[in-house]
Amino acid sequence: MLMGTALDVEVEAADRPAGLAASERAVEALEAAEARLSTWRDDTELARLNRTPVGEPRTLSPALARELQAARRCWEETGGAFDPGAGALVRAWGLRTGGRIPDAAELRAANGVSGLRLQEGIAVREKNLILEEGGWGKGAGLVDALEALKREGVARASLDLGGQVAVLGGGWEIPVADPRRRDRSAVLLKIDGGSVSTSGNGERGIEVGGKRLGHILDPRTGEPAPDFGSLTVWTADPLRADCLSTGLYVLGPERALAWAAAHPGVEVLVLRTDGGLRAQASSGLRGRVKPLAPEVEIEIGR
Ligand code: ADP
Ligand code: MG
Repeated sequence: MLMGTALDVEVEAADRPAGLAASERAVEALEAAEARLSTWRDDTELARLNRTPVGEPRTLSPALARELQAARRCWEETGGAFDPGAGALVRAWGLRTGGRIPDAAELRAANGVSGLRLQEGIAVREKNLILEEGGWGKGAGLVDALEALKREGVARASLDLGGQVAVLGGGWEIPVADPRRRDRSAVLLKIDGGSVSTSGNGERGIEVGGKRLGHILDPRTGEPAPDFGSLTVWTADPLRADCLSTGLYVLGPERALAWAAAHPGVEVLVLRTDGGLRAQASSGLRGRVKPLAPEVEIEIGR
């Protein structure tokens, strides 16, 4: 158990002791990432940054500075659909506390990552920014875990952290779950290296006053993102895969596929639950996707 979820490690090495030692290094890297990033505990670097008074400069560890830069880049790239500063919004909707309906004033007061000044490893919070790692922490941890495996000389491995997968080497087959029933696989995705991250509102929704809340919010409106199924991203960097699956989910299926078409190196698989199960994939997934359920039809972009 790591980062509030389960980790599966598969490593190829010269012998059993080498494989076990390498997987141990990967686990340690993830533990260190959790100790840096979790906002479920108050002793992590990110939690301390969230408690730093507005306007007061704080020197970050190189790792956190790099991660926040990368997350902010993703915020820019998605026009604010992904926002690592969604903490105030997550609190307003009570996503960690069973759910609640916020009033308009609370939503207006929930400023995002635009309230973070970050320069040469020094962070300053402006407004009442609350950073939230839910949409990128697992990806950040996987970046470090892959690095740890590479340092051990591992060339072929797979890490599955609560559904986000990161691999070394080619020819891995990753099942993508049916968003209506996560215990069932709908599509098999064949990847060569990189990371696969899926975002969806499906089973993790909370109900408040008869209204079903997903756990993915649209920072541009302050409202929960509409539920259409799930969105999967395959790209080289696990942190980017994590950020983009959340951000492109918020953009919705059509805009997400258009975004992928304009960004080489990022492939997207959309599973839509409006009337059966429909799969749409970006062109780079041609020959890499296979239906695993008889009712799934896959449409691939040009
Ligand atoms: P998972 O946790 O299953 O990997 P995601 O990577 O899509 O799912 O992350 C969802 C989490 O990210 C939410 O639980 C919340 O903590 C946070 N979050 C919700 N909406 C956004 C958003 N628009 N941008 C960034 N983070 C978000
Ligand atoms: Mg994720």
